[in-house]
Amino acid sequence: MNMNQFDAVVVGAGPAGSIAALTLARGGAHVALIDKARFPRDKACGDLIGPPGVGLLSELGVRVEATRTVRDLRVIGFGGHEISMWCQTTDAYPDYASYVRRSGLDNALFNEAVRAGAVPIHGRIGDPIRHDCGRLIGVTLDSGRAIGAEFFIGADGATTRLGQIADLVDPARGLWCFAIRTYLPSSLDTPYIILWDEKPWKSFPGYGWIFPDGTGWANVGVGIGVGSNRSQGARATRELDGFIDRMAHRGLIETPASEDLPPRRLGGWLRMGLAGTKVAAGNVLLAGDAAALVNPYQAKAYPRPWPAAAPRQRPSLGHRPGRPRRTPPTSGTCSDGMKRLRPPSRPKPCGTCVWPRLRAACSPAGRSPTYLPNRWPSTWTS
Ligand SMILES: Cc1cc2nc3c(=O)[nH]c(=O)nc-3n(C[C@H](O)[C@H](O)[C@H](O)COP(=O)(O)OP(=O)(O)OC[C@H]3O[C@@H](n4cnc5c(N)ncnc54)[C@H](O)[C@@H]3O)c2cc1C
Repeated sequence: MNMNQFDAVVVGAGPAGSIAALTLARGGAHVALIDKARFPRDKACGDLIGPPGVGLLSELGVRVEATRTVRDLRVIGFGGHEISMWCQTTDAYPDYASYVRRSGLDNALFNEAVRAGAVPIHGRIGDPIRHDCGRLIGVTLDSGRAIGAEFFIGADGATTRLGQIADLVDPARGLWCFAIRTYLPSSLDTPYIILWDEKPWKSFPGYGWIFPDGTGWANVGVGIGVGSNRSQGARATRELDGFIDRMAHRGLIETPASEDLPPRRLGGWLRMGLAGTKVAAGNVLLAGDAAALVNPYQAKAYPRPWPAAAPRQRPSLGHRPGRPRRTPPTSGTCSDGMKRLRPPSRPKPCGTCVWPRLRAACSPAGRSPTYLPNRWPSTWTS
């Protein structure tokens, strides 16, 4: 079969895939960056990049247009009481988050990867192409085109096709979340996270958010954790209207006549906590949502794919000027080439888990600020 040959194929050009491709291309690798969507494309998201994500963008030298910088976060807990949390100051990353629409963020990262030399390929990956020994040597696209490589990075989101091809994911054991967002007018200047009881003593297994964008609009959404039972995901969509009504009643958002607005509701799956996922095997590595790297306590992640662990840790993979280009194995025993691109044995934690603190802060004992222990660090990271 005739195949276009690369050192590495990255499937998915969201933040995880574009950052992986960018880092590999800057390191001298011949990289294909495949996505089924044409960029710029929209993506369901709360549009808030947490401090580690802001730090990573600056490390990579990628400039994105943020419409708002965020330091404080308001949390409405069960019973309707509010607390403020401020962004934690650490040496590891900046003490602020940024509001950036995903179409802009993803487009900036995609363009940066292409500028660095990654070859953009439009298409949906379908079937694997394997060597006689079983090693993955290529993927086919829906157009029938075949793309070959020595290494493959699956950054194709929560429902990863590459992860299925490489037998790295078990959806039945996954920890799934479904979240949906819309945009509504709001004059808030602080983002809100909201928890509520569905009925007495039964909390909604997720949360809502209102993230103002600094231009008079807010990203408003609801996410629900459903364990491995994905049929429950539709509850988030059903819950959104009631959530909007309650927040409008509280004066946090306005509800314009819906006919004035373009349809802006968009939902998506998240896979969390590495559940049911093997992150790498053979010559395939998963990154971002495909690797279930979403923090289960926050349902947020701007993933730091391992090949992109830090610009100073250049991958040893690929072509460098003055060196011969490697050719893919055509016969004999397959060596485990991933040894050269091995991730650390554990993923880097996404930051301090804030959810248990949030929960405690909003629990009956913590409903009034006076009950919060003095030493309680009302801070957030994301
Ligand atoms: C409603 C909602 C709100 C969220 N809010 C936040 C937030 O405020 N902050 C935050 O940090 N995180 C948030 N998240 C999580 C965040 O969106 C994801 O963690 C992030 O997008 C993961 O990036 P990724 O690159 O791994 O995958 P994605 O961004 O999902 O990118 C995957 C890419 O792969 C492509 N692809 C998929 N299948 C194929 C295929 N077969 N062939 C070729 N290409 C393919 C897709 O077109 C897509 O471009 C939210 C998620 C949702 C759903």
